[in-house]
Amino acid sequence: MASSHQASGIQAGRLTRQKIADNFGDLHPAYDAHEAAVAADRCYFCYDAPCMTACPTSIDIPQFIREIQTGNPEAAARSILKQNILGGMCARVCPTETLCEEVCVREAAEGKPVEIGRLQRYATDVMMAKESHPFSRGESTGKRIAVVGAGPAGLAAAHRLALLGHEVVIHEKKGKSGGLNEFGIAAYKSPNDFAAREVNWLLQIGGISVVYGEGLGGGLTLEALTAEFDAVFLSIGLAGVNALRAPGENKDGTRDAVEFIAELRQADDLSKLAVGRNVVVIGGGMTAVDAAVQSKLLGAENVTIAYRRGQESMGASRFEQDLATSKGVKLMFNVMPVAVHGDGAASEIELEYTTVEEGKVSGTGEKFRLAAEQVFKAIGQTLEGQPEGLVLEGRKIKVDDAGRTSVKGVWAGGDCASGGEDLTVTAVAEGRDGAIDIHSSLMG
Ligand SMILES: Cc1cc2nc3c(=O)[nH]c(=O)nc-3n(C[C@H](O)[C@H](O)[C@H](O)COP(=O)(O)OP(=O)(O)OC[C@H]3O[C@@H](n4cnc5c(N)ncnc54)[C@H](O)[C@@H]3O)c2cc1C
Ligand code: SF4
Repeated sequence: MASSHQASGIQAGRLTRQKIADNFGDLHPAYDAHEAAVAADRCYFCYDAPCMTACPTSIDIPQFIREIQTGNPEAAARSILKQNILGGMCARVCPTETLCEEVCVREAAEGKPVEIGRLQRYATDVMMAKESHPFSRGESTGKRIAVVGAGPAGLAAAHRLALLGHEVVIHEKKGKSGGLNEFGIAAYKSPNDFAAREVNWLLQIGGISVVYGEGLGGGLTLEALTAEFDAVFLSIGLAGVNALRAPGENKDGTRDAVEFIAELRQADDLSKLAVGRNVVVIGGGMTAVDAAVQSKLLGAENVTIAYRRGQESMGASRFEQDLATSKGVKLMFNVMPVAVHGDGAASEIELEYTTVEEGKVSGTGEKFRLAAEQVFKAIGQTLEGQPEGLVLEGRKIKVDDAGRTSVKGVWAGGDCASGGEDLTVTAVAEGRDGAIDIHSSLMG
């Protein structure tokens, strides 16, 4: 594999170790106390604050900003974390430009919102630096709940259930907790092993045990879980990958973007991670941008995102698109892959221009080729396998507003469940709310 990578131009060490370390530095460096005070002073503390309504976890934003302004960041952190226990990670990864900051009245008035995300990061960093956990477990209810999957949805559900006095066992098929916080989020959004540190901090509440290497469908069955536990919460994300359906997609050098990002996130030394000279990423969402930007930061010379619809339909926000172009990534719209060419390994990708009529994409017949030793597929994730007995809605597990599935005693939330955007903050909200509904239905 390594030799064919060398031959096909996919190689490590395109930049020096120092340059790569600089490239992967914190995207939004933390505020110091003075900067936080100045940023907090810009808030109008709006009544019926639109920013709070736009937050999927309904954090009381004016309240926590007021607490920062009055010099009490720990109180601010409590206000954040009681709504969103992964408030530290969300402060780093939320697309605030399409959520709270988009609707901030300062954005409407001056084109510059209060920097809510960075203020949230400041407060939660202060709290977590103390290494103490701000919440304690409720009195034991004697109920045992199984959570399947230790990503943001599962962790948020487990924490809320522990807070309410239940005993929780998380079954995680990988060897590490965190889900896409650990394996998916771009490295420059979560440097210094923040995802793992946050999980350890969260588990300090007690009452939660994690069993690794045990997956639903891989030895664990829903039937056995419902028999053993009082309730089950499924938070297995979307671990399957959509196919490109283009000839040549199995050629060496063509791979799933999430798999590449996971390898990057787990690498001890990024200067040893191989990347192509010419990289083409197929897709238009956050994953496509992350794969493209990180390829560029590793030293790829030409990186192109090829998206089959127009710019206005891209899943990645304008901020993410601008981030990509600022790093030298080329964005191409209205193009779709036709074939990957190369002798054994990829060397070129053939694309076709598209038109979109009534939402339907079709090729115009005009085709061209781009050099590409590496082709990343970022065309969406899907449920892995069909969880037994559960009704699906589209490609996801069907749930009602409270997160209940079609099977009695089984709830689901996060990316694997119907409804809501595929975002970390939405997964946290659904995990928390599923836990609250489990509690109500068990306790009456
Ligand atoms: C590359 C990439 C970048 C992203 N960037 C951002 C971003 O910047 N901001 C943002 O808000 N969102 C981002 N997202 C989306 C965000 O990461 C997800 O919406 C969020 O992680 C969903 O949380 P979850 O808990 O539902 O699922 P996941 O995070 O996918 O966690 C699911 C967990 O379940 C485990 N699991 C899977 N199957 C089984 C099984 N059968 N049995 C047991 N365990 C199982 C998995 O190993 C994993 O630990 C990104 C997604 C990707 C792919
Ligand atoms: S909308 Fe902006 S100004 Fe108003 S409370 Fe929210 S952050 Fe403050």
